[in-house]
Parts: sequence; C-alpha cells; structure tokens
Amino acid sequence: MEDCLFCKIADGRIPGKIVYEDKDVMAFEDIHPTAPHHILFIPKRHIASMADITPEDGYLLGKLFAAAAQVARERGLAAEEQGYRFVTNVGPHAGQSVFHLHFHLLGGRPFAWPPG
Ligand code: AMP
Ligand code: ZN
Repeated sequence: MEDCLFCKIADGRIPGKIVYEDKDVMAFEDIHPTAPHHILFIPKRHIASMADITPEDGYLLGKLFAAAAQVARERGLAAEEQGYRFVTNVGPHAGQSVFHLHFHLLGGRPFAWPPG
C-alpha cells in the first residue's frame, strides 16, 4: 500500500531498527517502547488488522508467532522467571493507531492482567 507506514518499513522506504526478517515477515523495534523489550512483528504483505485475517493466512501467522518466540528466546525473555506478552490491537477501543497488522512483543518487566 502506497501510504501505509509499515508497508514503507517493510520495503525499506522508511528505516526501521530491524530485529528479524525473512521473505514473509519482519520485526523491528517500536519507536516509542513501553517496556525494556518492545518489538513489532508484521507480515510484509498489507493486512489492515486481525479483522481481515482469513484461514488462508494461517501459515503467515504461524511464522509471525514462531519468529516472536525465537526473538523472545534470544533475548532471555523465555527464561523461567521471565515471560512476555504478544498482542495485537484492533480498532479504537483497543487503541490501534497503525492500520497494518502488527503484534507487539513486550518483555523485560511484569505486565498487569487484565490490561487497563
Ligand atoms: P498500535 O497502537 O497497536 O497500532 O501500535 C502502533 C505502534 O507503532 C505504536 O506502539 C507506535 O509506537 C509504533 N510506531 C509508530 N510509528 C513507528 C515507526 N516509524 N517505527 C516503529 N514503530 C512505530
Ligand atoms: Zn501496509
């Protein structure tokens, strides 16, 4: 998509601090981190939000989750006394601000449940 911020990061038109990349998915540091580790995982192909996912996207979603689990392990977040959160926001009540599907990997501190 021409005017989509995360499409621009995915194809290199805008720089990102890239943490992981393969032909289908990418991960980069959130520009306004809310935890010691705050990384965004996106499909390179434009999908506006979780509301637009179809069963055919299953392989892509598996890759996103597996990439996040790998980065979490590499950063020590999978250690027994640690842990992390992997979340996506959909629409105004959840606070979605960028309309290209992304999952937040958050770690390095405790997180409240239920979220505020
Ligand atoms: P959400 O509010 O769930 O849509 O999340 C959007 C996230 O994108 C926020 O956490 C922002 O800090 C982050 N963000 C916005 N612009 C950029 C950018 N250029 N590079 C990296 N992260 C960004
Ligand atoms: Zn996009």
